[in-house]
Amino acid sequence: MQYIVLDMEWNQPWPGSPSAKKVLPSPIRGEIVQIGAVRMPRDGEVADEFQTLIRPAYYKKMNRKVASLTGIKDSVLKERGKPFREAMQAFHDWCGEDAAFLTWGFDDIVILKENLTLYGMDTAWVDTWYNAQLIFNAQTDGSSAQKSLSSAMQIMGIEPTRPAHDALGDAYHTALICSRLNLTDGIAAYEKAAKEHENGFHGAELPGCLLRSVSHGHPDKPHALAAMAGSGNICPVCGKRMSCGKWYPQPGKRFMAMAACEADGAFLVRVRLAEDPDGTLRANRLVYSADSEAAESYRRLTEKPTHHRRRRSGRARAKKAGAESKA
Ligand SMILES: [Zn+2]
Repeated sequence: MQYIVLDMEWNQPWPGSPSAKKVLPSPIRGEIVQIGAVRMPRDGEVADEFQTLIRPAYYKKMNRKVASLTGIKDSVLKERGKPFREAMQAFHDWCGEDAAFLTWGFDDIVILKENLTLYGMDTAWVDTWYNAQLIFNAQTDGSSAQKSLSSAMQIMGIEPTRPAHDALGDAYHTALICSRLNLTDGIAAYEKAAKEHENGFHGAELPGCLLRSVSHGHPDKPHALAAMAGSGNICPVCGKRMSCGKWYPQPGKRFMAMAACEADGAFLVRVRLAEDPDGTLRANRLVYSADSEAAESYRRLTEKPTHHRRRRSGRARAKKAGAESKA
């Protein structure tokens, strides 16, 4: 598999202009006017380049802001821009099959797919893509903040040698950043994170989390919680069924309970329910060790109701005593 580092510029109609009111055969957020791409045959290697201008068919008048940012004028596109189909065929031919696309940000591939769909063209060849920002963050400061291309270059000490806001210039600079990343590792971690996100695990687990799993197809909440307390209540150490205490509801369809394995002792189980597209419930289950911070906060949370119950049971005892004295 080869990497194609891609950057595009697209035009948007000026808000309120006649173009902005046009109803297109399928919606697009912007019409692509420039494609720049750099091939990376393998990790660390920057190879040949591709660039093309595209003559817009829908938003023909360049948005002032886009034009001043990119330096792309209507007249240039009219003279040198290729029709979209022709430009895309040339780009696809240059990419070849079995390409993984790298972009700086989440927008480019989404807009590329919208434009391909608008022309009734195949989109499957751009399905494999990664936002290089996330790999950069994971392999540098570990933050989740999206960084601009120029600040990422600064962090890596890369001097800009090409114009910014030019598709090929941006693609080339992105490729320089990517050539200093471990893309193989980055993509493996990315796919794991994306899968977890798809399964409903957002963000990092808390310390002390021993196991996370997801189960689908629960018809409703009682069935889901019964499964989580029953056949799905597996010990994270030995894999055997555990006993399960009472579920404590928390905001956001979350539930917690203490579970116990005969051999391995107590664990905190946290479950979050969410609706799947088919209307059934998905249960995300996380198991924490009994001495984890999560289990500690569970104990604090559940201490209060116990206190109230004790007072209530105190009154119940007094009533009962009264009844007995009457008898
Ligand atoms: Zn066990």
